[in-house]
Amino acid sequence: MVEEDFSGTRTRPRILLAEDSQTSKAMLLKNLSENYELIEARDGEEAWQILLADERIDVVITDVNMPRLTGQQLLVKIRKSQMPRIANIPVIVMTAANDSVDKNLAFLNGANDFLMKPVDVMELQARVNVHYKLTRTIRELEESRRALAEQASTDPLTRLRNRRSFYDQGAQHISAVKRYLGELSVLLIDIDHFKQVNDRFGHQAGDEVLLKVATLLAGIVRNGDVVGRIGGEEFAALLPETNRLGAAVLAERVRARIEKAEITAADTRIRVTVSIGMATFSAESVDSFDELLAVADRRLYLAKNQGRNRICVNDEGKTSFA
Ligand code: GH3
Ligand code: MG
Ligand code: MG
Ligand code: MG
Repeated sequence: MVEEDFSGTRTRPRILLAEDSQTSKAMLLKNLSENYELIEARDGEEAWQILLADERIDVVITDVNMPRLTGQQLLVKIRKSQMPRIANIPVIVMTAANDSVDKNLAFLNGANDFLMKPVDVMELQARVNVHYKLTRTIRELEESRRALAEQASTDPLTRLRNRRSFYDQGAQHISAVKRYLGELSVLLIDIDHFKQVNDRFGHQAGDEVLLKVATLLAGIVRNGDVVGRIGGEEFAALLPETNRLGAAVLAERVRARIEKAEITAADTRIRVTVSIGMATFSAESVDSFDELLAVADRRLYLAKNQGRNRICVNDEGKTSFA
């Protein structure tokens, strides 16, 4: 079963063969090496070490009775592995024709398939191919599911979280804060007079400015903070374990950093400023993430009204708690 991958190179399924009997192994090698890439292990322990080191094994074929680690023990280790790559690998167990106990045990231990010894090579190939294809298909589905989920939660221009994903994160953090009495602050960051940037320099330059501001924001916050683009020229930061003093310090740092930023787009130095409203869960009488954001939004509005390029930390329109 030789397949072509995207680069046009021919790839063969990579099989790990755990077998201590020289005759059995020689027979399998002779009959399988044309269509498969075979990695040999003399016993279960060696097979396990190879599995840990080699990320490209597609299928495991194992004998049962082997020194050091038996096929059954190897199978248990594989299925208990914390690494999905190993835990989900297809395993075909070769059992003696008259041994239904071993066969049942292998089944209980999570074997995908069995082969009677002496092995019928055609049958073995057919089974390997089935499991190889199945595993590949599952892997591809899993990968595209992951890519789709990522795409659905990412803003395409800035690669920040989009509005929906940011709100999802916020709701999750709020329930954690309620359970464990943690702290949580949010910043709403809106670019000032952004319409004029578009009008003067063009929409594309505007997009570049948005990207630069997003990159700046993502660079300022801590690991574990969540930054999103929740509107056209509106960003938000979710700050776990941050009280209102900490949030005010960060907000002012963001404001100052953007004011000084060297942003060049359409061959022109473009200066932008932002206004920021903030809110902190424990400090407001709010019960949900939406309510918390509504408080921050109210203060963003105050910051705008008071002249822009400023932060607003409370409903009196203060720019700091000092
Ligand atoms: P204010 O200081 O009151 O926030 O003024 P503003 O001009 O920033 O706010 P307003 O809401 O009036 O306009 C926002 C502008 O942002 C208008 C819109 O064209 C622009 N905008 C929204 N999304 C994008 C985008 O993805 N790319 C670009 N280039 N511009 C955008
Ligand atoms: Mg044996
Ligand atoms: Mg604006
Ligand atoms: Mg706006």
